[in-house]
Amino acid sequence: MAGLSLAYYITQSSLRNRSILILDRDQKNRNDRTWCFWENGAGPFESIMYRQWNSVSFHGTTHAGPLDLGTYQYKMLRGIDFYTFVQNELDKWPNVERRQATINRIKDTPQGGFVIADDEPYIADYVFDSTFALRTDQPRHHNLLQHFKGWVINTEKPCFDPQQPEIMDFRVAQHGDCRFVYVMPFDARTALVEFTLFNDKLMTDAEYDADIRQYIDRFLDAGTYQIAETEYGVIPMSDTETQENPSEHIVRIGTSGGHTKASTGYTFQRTQQYLRDIVHNLAATGKPNRKLPWFRSRFKLYDSVFLNVLEKQRHPADDVFTRFYAKNRPVNAFRFLDEDTRLVDELRLFTTMPSWPFTVAFFDVLRRKLIG
Ligand SMILES: Cc1cc2nc3c(=O)[nH]c(=O)nc-3n(C[C@H](O)[C@H](O)[C@H](O)COP(=O)(O)OP(=O)(O)OC[C@H]3O[C@@H](n4cnc5c(N)ncnc54)[C@H](O)[C@@H]3O)c2cc1C
Repeated sequence: MAGLSLAYYITQSSLRNRSILILDRDQKNRNDRTWCFWENGAGPFESIMYRQWNSVSFHGTTHAGPLDLGTYQYKMLRGIDFYTFVQNELDKWPNVERRQATINRIKDTPQGGFVIADDEPYIADYVFDSTFALRTDQPRHHNLLQHFKGWVINTEKPCFDPQQPEIMDFRVAQHGDCRFVYVMPFDARTALVEFTLFNDKLMTDAEYDADIRQYIDRFLDAGTYQIAETEYGVIPMSDTETQENPSEHIVRIGTSGGHTKASTGYTFQRTQQYLRDIVHNLAATGKPNRKLPWFRSRFKLYDSVFLNVLEKQRHPADDVFTRFYAKNRPVNAFRFLDEDTRLVDELRLFTTMPSWPFTVAFFDVLRRKLIG
């Protein structure tokens, strides 16, 4: 996602004639994921959005119903549509080449970024790396996983509201951690129904399947149904440190660059924003590096505190999310997750959270940062 997006943005900029090589061990010709995210107005991939909605629904402990999205739309982009669109666009450029190869090594040298892939050496002014594996085994950090399995089902009866996806439905047994179902309707009889957990214990296929089946049987008046597609994924929910610029000629992008938001797993929009920034910098200054004001790092602290509450099970997660969406204007909640709020908005939002568990979590995060 990050590599293709970056190449696409470069071809849309004054750097469009630079020589670009994209290496991937995979052909990216399968619908291996679906991206959902919220956005204000039209984005760069507007023409290939699979669905978009002006309203979403949330089912928590004390609130169930629509959330007012204000000017945001909730959007859904299928992986295959994205890969096909970007690859077709890139094929128009003779200076962009794609090769299927496994990268064995990435190293900085005085001459540039150096890569070995399938025994072939490459050197470039910049290597944009989306393969770096985050270190998620450090006890100093919080290392949860967002794992999910989803079925696209075709139902006998019309049981979905095509106008309104369910972004979180907490009516499933919580087992002390955080579990919910996500329902993205394509039409009244077709939807992606995804069972999602925030914890550190992956389950067997049969366990995910049993939970999805139970949700459909209990909460959807579907009649009989067929499974048209399945999706499985694991996203790190970790506050581990990674560097966007580990060395002069290497730039990390996507999840590798730390652009998965630790508290939500949302990555798509954050990566797009980052890539547009670095292409802008590269075109303007010849260097991609971006500098964020230090005060923005407070959002990382908020993510860590939230992960601490989840990891230590300091308060039921379904109640935390219910307060978050029901006691705040949903628009402010989404803006907060976009890290687009002012401190005063954030403090107001914190007052809607259970104070003791979050205070204890805050001090535990400080302790881990200071003492380890
Ligand atoms: C099933 C699924 C659903 C998701 N849904 C959402 C969502 O709804 N919203 C959201 O914001 N985020 C979502 N995410 C999280 C995130 O947006 C995606 O994981 C996204 O694809 C991350 O982009 P990336 O470029 O960092 O990694 P990827 O898209 O995974 O790209 C990394 C590429 O590197 C290649 N690669 C890795 N190692 C090597 C190697 N050694 N040699 C050669 N090639 C290599 C891989 O083949 C891959 O193509 C989802 C993730 C998954 C797995």
